[in-house]
Amino acid sequence: MIFDSHMHVGDFPLFDVSLHREGLEQTLHENGIEGAVVFHPDNAYVRQVVASVRGVYGLVWANPRLPNYLEETLRFLDDPLFLGVKLHPLLDAYHPNDPAVHPLIEALIERDLPVLIHSGHPIFTLPWSIEELIVNFPTAKVILGHMGHGNIIYINAAIDIAARHPNVYLETSGMPMHTKIAEAVRRVGPDRVLYGSDAPFHHPQVEILKVRLSGLLPELVERVLGANGRALFQVPKNDERSTGTRPTREEKYLEDDRIRYQNR
Ligand SMILES: [Zn+2]
Repeated sequence: MIFDSHMHVGDFPLFDVSLHREGLEQTLHENGIEGAVVFHPDNAYVRQVVASVRGVYGLVWANPRLPNYLEETLRFLDDPLFLGVKLHPLLDAYHPNDPAVHPLIEALIERDLPVLIHSGHPIFTLPWSIEELIVNFPTAKVILGHMGHGNIIYINAAIDIAARHPNVYLETSGMPMHTKIAEAVRRVGPDRVLYGSDAPFHHPQVEILKVRLSGLLPELVERVLGANGRALFQVPKNDERSTGTRPTREEKYLEDDRIRYQNR
């Protein structure tokens, strides 16, 4: 029961990759992924995608440099298909501890929802910069996306920070060292390391294999690959996507899917 805590949908011209609804379904199916959170700066597009793919939820992409960002973010969070927030201080160019971020974190604490923050690149997403935000909000659930990414100094720092702060989680996508996944679990405990693929930038098979080869015992591998993400994002047990306000065609599709699922 794999749950992917880091996926993207949409077009990414900067990287020359894209992943749309059909591609997403295919990616999930081909890689044995049963649930995921996905995101893109266009939150309305994400809502459209997640409304029709069972098991998939959104994170609201919040950019504190945009006017009315907080109202916008909270409006999307009112939709139960969104399970938290994604921040990308590098792409959107702000310090993670910018005062503009604080009211958002307060709202997330109030709603008991996590925030996934891209980590691992200067100048805005070094783990220590994110820690400045973390020390201000010791009860916020903060996920260090990529757990420091490609640089050993940043990877070690991400693990150190999670070890220092019990409200910090580590997400594994794009981080090259399989052994660091086992080390992270050893140092921060069995519940706070989450598998993510960063698809379509990285292939889920590569990212899943990294967890499987990390040296963790099978039970811990399963926790990292699925249970931890599902618990942190509080993924609903009953997917209610067969009712609601979607177009009839989608509702029919979901109804067929639900019947197939029940008959398995
Ligand atoms: Zn990503």
